[in-house]
Amino acid sequence: MKNIFGMTVPEISQVLKEWNIAPYRAKQIAEWMYQRNAVSFEEMTNLPKTLRQKLMENFMFFRAELKARLDSQDGSTTKFLLSFADGIAVETVLMRHSYGNSICVSTQAGCNIGCAFCASTLHGLDRNLTRGEILSQVIFINELLKTEGKKVDTVVIMGSGEPLMNYENVVGFIRLLHEPYCLYMGYRNVTLSTSGIVPEIYALAEENIQITLSISLHAANQDLRTRLMPINNKFPLKDVVAAAKNYGDKTKRRVTYEYILIKDLNDTDDFAAALAGLLRGQLASVNLIPINPVIERDFQRPSQERIDAFEACLTRHHVTVTVRREMGRDIQAACGQLRNKYLVQ
Ligand code: SAH
Repeated sequence: MKNIFGMTVPEISQVLKEWNIAPYRAKQIAEWMYQRNAVSFEEMTNLPKTLRQKLMENFMFFRAELKARLDSQDGSTTKFLLSFADGIAVETVLMRHSYGNSICVSTQAGCNIGCAFCASTLHGLDRNLTRGEILSQVIFINELLKTEGKKVDTVVIMGSGEPLMNYENVVGFIRLLHEPYCLYMGYRNVTLSTSGIVPEIYALAEENIQITLSISLHAANQDLRTRLMPINNKFPLKDVVAAAKNYGDKTKRRVTYEYILIKDLNDTDDFAAALAGLLRGQLASVNLIPINPVIERDFQRPSQERIDAFEACLTRHHVTVTVRREMGRDIQAACGQLRNKYLVQ
């Protein structure tokens, strides 16, 4: 049976039309699911009983369920392990900033991109998440924040999985999130991070949704990037950067490049200069991420002096740069780590 959670108003209307039911009911159903925290059709009390019955007979209604939760000591970061109808579980992270609440959603259970530093890919890919499953992570946390008089302000698509390998569901999710009957979230409050799936980066530029694109670069030369990210064999660095530039030109949005700093691997001034050279002439900024060491992997964080020097070198080359503030190191916030712990138990 199809899960109704994740369906749009036009999709629900289409079903209601076949049942000879007025289309305005679709909006009521959507509001119950996405804004009013209904967990069953019975709760949708402004719908006729016969309609509720019919919905029950034809649809499954499943929202994300909480399996585990970890709070950082300072309370700024919470990591949730959420599960879906078939029992598969993914991680979602809530980060409370002074400027608002940001959440990091997963788009796949596991991942098959194979990046050398990443915990999400260690067990391969289980499956793509559906549009509704991605949305249900946001709704779950939004409901939690509502109890504190707060809400989800920004969404980063940076949890486990490669979003552009699950393109239809991810773009459908972003559009649904933006609907007034859902969270009415501005596209500018959404960031999508990719390892660089070139054809889909071009496709995304044509979607007419002004989300921020973030490219996981991590190295500015072809050989080193291939070592860190095997996907670089298929979609070489220069093609990824060209696709990202096209995205920036088409959407007028500044593209961000993520660059994990790994001790003695990609953290020298020469690498910083190469990175600046690669991005010259592009509306771009760099987000430096001191690596979050993963127990299964042997990569170390550079010293604070090295991080500062790398940043300074980029600034000297006129590159806009930020260093990611570390949040939730004590709760294994690098993507995939809570899930892996759970998988081996
Ligand atoms: N597949 C997408 C989105 C998920 S990964 C992508 O590659 O962008 C989200 C970000 O976390 C990426 O920039 C990824 O490179 C980074 N990341 C993965 N493992 C990490 C680690 N151990 N420490 C710091 N960042 C990590």
